[in-house]
Amino acid sequence: MPLIPINMREGTLARSDDVIVGIDLGTTNSLVAYIKDGKPYCIRDAAGKHALVPSIVHFTPDGQMLVGDAAREKLVSDPANTIYSVKRLMGKSYRDVADIQDFFGYQILDDNTESLVKIRVRDRFFTPIELSAEILRALKQRAERELGRAITKAVITVPAYFNDNQRQATRDAGRLAGLDVLRIVNEPTAAALAYGIGLDPTHSETIAVYDLGGGTFDISILKIHQGIFEVLSTHGDTFLGGDDFDRLLAQLLLQKAGFTADVVLSDKAIGQAIRLQAERVKKALSSSEVVDTEVLGKTVRVQREEFEQQIEPLIQRTLECCASALRDARLQPADIEKVVLVGGSTRVPIIKRRVAEFFGRTPFDSLDPDEVVALGAAVQADILAGNQRDLLLLDVTPLSLGIETLGGLMDVIIPRNSKIPIRASRQYTTSVDGQKNLKIAVYQGERDLVQHNRKLGEFILSGIPPMPAGLPKIEVVFLINADGILTVRARELRSGIEQQIEIRPAYGLTEEEMARMLMDSITHAAEDMQVRALQEARNEAQTLLLAGEKFLQQNDLSLSEIEKSTIRSLLTSLQEAAKGEDKDCIQTAIQALNDYTTPLAHRAMDAVIQEAMRGKKIS
Ligand code: AMP
Repeated sequence: MPLIPINMREGTLARSDDVIVGIDLGTTNSLVAYIKDGKPYCIRDAAGKHALVPSIVHFTPDGQMLVGDAAREKLVSDPANTIYSVKRLMGKSYRDVADIQDFFGYQILDDNTESLVKIRVRDRFFTPIELSAEILRALKQRAERELGRAITKAVITVPAYFNDNQRQATRDAGRLAGLDVLRIVNEPTAAALAYGIGLDPTHSETIAVYDLGGGTFDISILKIHQGIFEVLSTHGDTFLGGDDFDRLLAQLLLQKAGFTADVVLSDKAIGQAIRLQAERVKKALSSSEVVDTEVLGKTVRVQREEFEQQIEPLIQRTLECCASALRDARLQPADIEKVVLVGGSTRVPIIKRRVAEFFGRTPFDSLDPDEVVALGAAVQADILAGNQRDLLLLDVTPLSLGIETLGGLMDVIIPRNSKIPIRASRQYTTSVDGQKNLKIAVYQGERDLVQHNRKLGEFILSGIPPMPAGLPKIEVVFLINADGILTVRARELRSGIEQQIEIRPAYGLTEEEMARMLMDSITHAAEDMQVRALQEARNEAQTLLLAGEKFLQQNDLSLSEIEKSTIRSLLTSLQEAAKGEDKDCIQTAIQALNDYTTPLAHRAMDAVIQEAMRGKKIS
């Protein structure tokens, strides 16, 4: 009798033949792959030719949507209605992308700088999530056509540096396309998996993934230990790639043909045509030493070496990023045991050579560099489907996460570079008697004052039973799951009331901003420490002032007039000191008040005990 597996989580009959696809949702191109006869395979177009689906969506005048190759054809003729590079906008606000707006040929809406960007196409508005969903839908259909069945489950890859918002946005796009996104996987991790790196749990190694695509460059250093992938560091340039090679080569071609490059390239249509031609020449130069081509009616000959000279500064920039990534991971090139090449531009022979020289070893390049991430996503999908031993994929938090405490201080709960998944908690209390609500404001960043960090969201823990200040025990838990999604929960432990949010912040961070925030935290470290020390002294003063007033009220009868007036004057001095900027002055006033009141407090306590004893009858 056949066994019928039951999915315990959902209580449904599990279909063991469910296919989970792996999707590389790229900036320029996307791909979908699955495991066929035990091996990962990228699904091609209906003609069985191309695996790449250009990540482009075009809107026709009658409101129809075209995705992929058909949309790419409209890039030059109708740029305003042809949306490309939407991945650059995922999880971003207008403010995040304002300075790169010129890059986009279409209209990005600037309505509210804090909210997520929208794209305007004629009189309709779209979010990057909706547009990404269209690309995913096209990939889903492609897989359904190939496999002849409905596809509802997928693994989608994202860059290792994607933050919570960007990962969440990607997940949402999947859901919108009718896909249950079982896991979001880092692109470099997928690339390693495609080569089978990390599948042997007894083997530990440190690898580098060098990813040079059409428009972006990323270098990631991964440590793989017992089947766990840990991102040690990432670096890159979000505007460096094969497109830049095309631009430089287009200039060279025009120059050789005797034209003034700037003049010719300033005409949009001609400029685009020449760049497309340059791209063809570039590709040809990857396999030939010399290429002849015709530029605006003139025959031009280009040597591979000339092209290499043109792009040399760009190659240098990628290697500087590699050096920075190694520095961040506190490693030397020799510590890297394997190097994996990803992205179409790594087909350029000099790139392969220079990367090999830099790391001192031959990189893995046997798989198609355009397909390697999607192939790895399919391997991960297969692991999730239970066809291979499950592997944990680990990531790190790029910036510290914490909450705002009294006086606007940042209290870090999960430090930067923590491995995820992670759970961390801390207890807090109230600062005012009878306080019923507590605001939990969540921030990301390295500075001591929250005002310098980035707010991710906030919520109110309400319904705290009235208690004296300091008595409620409020536990705040930060949980980051394997996909990097943050959930924050607050719970008053005495009463059990609880509130939680999944952080879906209003906008994300660009890589540049992340770097700036880190730099700021270093350059302002001394100043921040002083500000924090002053604020902490003020907080302590505030607590003592309240306690002092309470003490005076409760012991009105047992304290002498002199004692009362001394306490009052010490409280006034403390209050004055707390208004000032001198933390030592506040500390001195705190000390003076403590020194004077401690013996009085002991005396009062003794009196209470004596009173209690007197009331007791011993029979
Ligand atoms: P990707 O974003 O990974 O799809 O990479 C696309 C980039 O790779 C584009 O800039 C292509 O021009 C470039 N590319 C593709 N094939 C080659 C090749 N044979 N030689 C040089 N560059 C290539």
